[in-house]
Amino acid sequence: MLGLMQDWALTVDKIIDHANLNYSNREIVSRSVEGPILRSNYGQVHSRSKKLSNWLKSQNLRFGSRVASLAWNSGRHMECWYGAMGIGLVLHTLNPRLFADQLIYIIKHAEDEIIFSDISFAPLLEQIIPLCPSVKSVVYLTDKANMPQTKLANVHCYEEILEHENDECQWGGFDENTACGLCYTSGTTGNPKGVLYSHRSNILHSYMSLTADVMGISSSDVVLPVVPMFHANTWGVIFSAPMVGAKIVMPGAKMDGASIYELLETEKVNFTAAVPTVWLMLLQYLESTNQRLNSLKRVLIGGAALPERILRTFEDKYGVEVRHAWGMTETSPLGTVCTLTPEAMEMSKDEQIAIKLKQGRAPFGVELKIKRDDEAAPRDGTTFGNLMIRGPAIAKSYFKSEGGEILDEEGYFDTGDVANIDPQGYMQITDRSKDVIKSGGEWISSIDIENIAIGVDGVAIAAVIGHYHPKWDERPLLVIQTKENFEVSKEEILGYLNGKIAKWWMPDDVQFIDAIPLGATGKINKVALREMFKDYEFPK
Ligand code: AMP
Repeated sequence: MLGLMQDWALTVDKIIDHANLNYSNREIVSRSVEGPILRSNYGQVHSRSKKLSNWLKSQNLRFGSRVASLAWNSGRHMECWYGAMGIGLVLHTLNPRLFADQLIYIIKHAEDEIIFSDISFAPLLEQIIPLCPSVKSVVYLTDKANMPQTKLANVHCYEEILEHENDECQWGGFDENTACGLCYTSGTTGNPKGVLYSHRSNILHSYMSLTADVMGISSSDVVLPVVPMFHANTWGVIFSAPMVGAKIVMPGAKMDGASIYELLETEKVNFTAAVPTVWLMLLQYLESTNQRLNSLKRVLIGGAALPERILRTFEDKYGVEVRHAWGMTETSPLGTVCTLTPEAMEMSKDEQIAIKLKQGRAPFGVELKIKRDDEAAPRDGTTFGNLMIRGPAIAKSYFKSEGGEILDEEGYFDTGDVANIDPQGYMQITDRSKDVIKSGGEWISSIDIENIAIGVDGVAIAAVIGHYHPKWDERPLLVIQTKENFEVSKEEILGYLNGKIAKWWMPDDVQFIDAIPLGATGKINKVALREMFKDYEFPK
């Protein structure tokens, strides 16, 4: 027997309809790439998204066609998402930090037909569009006065398009499992693969992310997503914030400490989300200028392991609560978030810090398992193995079945991360499966060593790679990038690590380089780093 409740399709257009009806005046503030701060609100975003839908309907696209965006976080970018998704198109976010060749590959693979772009990417588009036959036109997200010079055919001005359209447009009315977003994985090995989100997965992910132990944001919050819209859905903020009517502050292209600080203070931001490197920049800026954080209350930090120094500085010096989160493009992206259980709240400060540095617990809608030698490992907080995940907002295959079958017999996706889970359900990443160092058959976690090494004064970035060793197969090599004008010695670093990690985890050598290679999403590119050190030999 079926339940007798209404069949209300979970499609994302309903989110912005809801925001328009209930929080119409709540602001969306954007730092534009042209320079000025632009102010809009949910009412305007709703109306302008509908106008864009009408223009898109006139562009000879089919239901499910892909339209792409190459843009920083902004109100206009948000309108592209809702304008396209509302009429059953798929919005494909392009990561501008990728190399031109990778972008061409992705655009061709996705068969993108229209590209919405910030004007700052005009030179890049001049170069790549002639090599992307599926692209019929480019729309610059700007007004007439700021339109770039172009040699490309079929280039439009966003504000001009909207001027000529009306905002009466029927949205939704299709199956909630319809695709609505596409994002390619960073693909450090092999070609990038497309993750195809559905309306339903985005809605369920948003409900989940609004629960109190995840983001827990409400209508009175002011949210600044530093995490880009092109990187795993802005961690869902573009959907979850309008669901509850939170004000959104968009940083545009400027993510340096001073620019972020200015927005935090002038817009009275109390919640924000970003990768650790952004927070390092902000904290350095605060220290060097001796400033305070007057409205910020909580930060969500994820995308890479949370360094202890960031956690302690935010909490002890600035009174800001830190929530460590883990996730990936394939998981929409929130997989776990770390908040304290009632038992943990009774613990000592140091014990709490140890917990907060873990990646956290699974919210409802996420199931985790640790798999080692094809068996589920115990949740004992020490046994580590491959981290597997399943749930309604987790990918079941890649776009165009790239990579084939990706789930195990129980429907779990292999994240490629290595982790343990403790009896309280806290998951801790110990490595990427391809970065874990296998020394004499035993596993060494590169991340653990990096997190400790970053605590040495003067160290900007620490990276550990497994390097060939004639006796042990692999041994850890620690590579350090120091902060500008700082000198740090190998002895200082090894002395600092001594006693904090097992003896056999101690790196066999420390090397210093000017710049540790970073990937397109700001994470350490270990493939490039291993390549740099391929001819290196450990001291005898
Ligand atoms: P991406 O799909 O580009 O967002 O990358 C996802 C990967 O980033 C994960 O599989 C992890 O390896 C890594 N990652 C994300 N969050 C964390 C975290 N809090 N700690 C350690 N690694 C993380």
